[in-house]
Amino acid sequence: MTVNIGFIGLGIMGKPMALNLIKGGYPLWVYGRRVESMAPLRAAGARACASPEEVARAAEITFIMVSDTQDVEQVILGPKGVLSGAKPGTIVVDMSTISPVATRSLATRLMESGIEMLDAPVSGGESGAVDGLLSLMVGGKSEIFDRVKPLFERMGKKIVHMGANGAGQAAKACNQIAASLTIEGVAEAFTFARRSGVDPGRVREALMGGFANSRILELHGQRMLDHDFRPGFKVRLHQKDLRIVMETAHQMGIALPGSALVAQHLNALIGSGEGELDSSALVNAIERLNEGR
Ligand code: NAP
Repeated sequence: MTVNIGFIGLGIMGKPMALNLIKGGYPLWVYGRRVESMAPLRAAGARACASPEEVARAAEITFIMVSDTQDVEQVILGPKGVLSGAKPGTIVVDMSTISPVATRSLATRLMESGIEMLDAPVSGGESGAVDGLLSLMVGGKSEIFDRVKPLFERMGKKIVHMGANGAGQAAKACNQIAASLTIEGVAEAFTFARRSGVDPGRVREALMGGFANSRILELHGQRMLDHDFRPGFKVRLHQKDLRIVMETAHQMGIALPGSALVAQHLNALIGSGEGELDSSALVNAIERLNEGR
């Protein structure tokens, strides 16, 4: 049976993810806030809509990939939002990285209108989105997860059902804690190398053969060496993710000192006007701490 699919939010991640759904043969209705963001999808056969409401009216399953918690709330609950158009029995899948607490409230609100929700944030960056190799962390009912899984398989290779609504976002927060501290670690190692008179490029090469190897050392490390900070994953979105981590940790009463430190460095980058750079620009914050040395 043909399933009509909706996709809202066509930025660095949303565009290639939606294109992979089209390649899978699914009829796609799309909405991008900037009309021009819909052009590549239209060229690939998608139908462009004037609002999230119009997408949800046409679709049995509507994916959302926007920036922050309040953006998802606006897309779902706002004027001409998903809730105004979606029929009972349809499914909303939020793939943005947002607050687990707000996610649970949104799922409850949608359920009151008979609409199912999954949270399905991703890891793997732009290249993972383009190649259909993302890692997906999914929260929601297992029978709804099973229904959406074939579509998830067009976008990702590792798809894990984490538990009830919000569990996907909690897992993504774990991902951001581990990834942030690794980026910080690589940035500090390269700064240490430079001050020691050792070539950081050779340090990267040597470390890639040992226990300190990681995708972050490989990819972000190369960007740091090249000073190529085209996003990628923007500093302002990384700052948003650590805000979610710290707020949730605050609510639970747990200490995450490493994450708190990286959050401060991201704040400093935003203050220096570097919010639209790739988050590998964390190395700039560490370098500036050591200027003159
Ligand atoms: P992006 O390139 O900035 O795209 C975000 C898109 O959302 C833009 O097209 C934007 O529209 C749209 N949008 C934002 N607020 C909206 C609103 N209120 N109403 C309608 N549309 C709205 O960001 P991205 O890198 O694709 O990231 C999207 C999400 O995925 C974020 O939650 C991010 O944390 C997460 N993520 C990103 C990566 C990565 O490597 N980039 C990896 C994993 C997860 P406009 O074009 O009009 O601004």
